[in-house]
Amino acid sequence: MRIHGRARVDPTNPQAFGVCDRCRFLYNLVDLVFQHEWRGNRLINLWLRVCRRCLDIPHEFTRPAILPPDPLPVYQPRPDDAAASEGPAPANLYVQQLVTGQPLPAPPTGLPVPRPIQLAD
Ligand SMILES: [Zn+2]
Repeated sequence: MRIHGRARVDPTNPQAFGVCDRCRFLYNLVDLVFQHEWRGNRLINLWLRVCRRCLDIPHEFTRPAILPPDPLPVYQPRPDDAAASEGPAPANLYVQQLVTGQPLPAPPTGLPVPRPIQLAD
């Protein structure tokens, strides 16, 4: 006698068997469903026939967020000069280290200070 796993056998109503593409258990083919996944803004069929235990419900988090378009720009804008009044942007310490060769300031974390990058001669 053949082992029929999780498939039901009914001699009066024979049904095809099928193997779940994830767990490889034997089921009735009618009990296997196609796995879908978000691609873009719609569900696509992955053509995997899986049992109910292995079926992953596509979650909304895997669906990419469709953002609305940017607003139309205004004609002849007059932005304020708040950014200019705050002064120059603070220097990037890592770029400053590359330019000047000075080591980075010791962080307050107690972690060892990395050595300055040695450029090839
Ligand atoms: Zn399965």
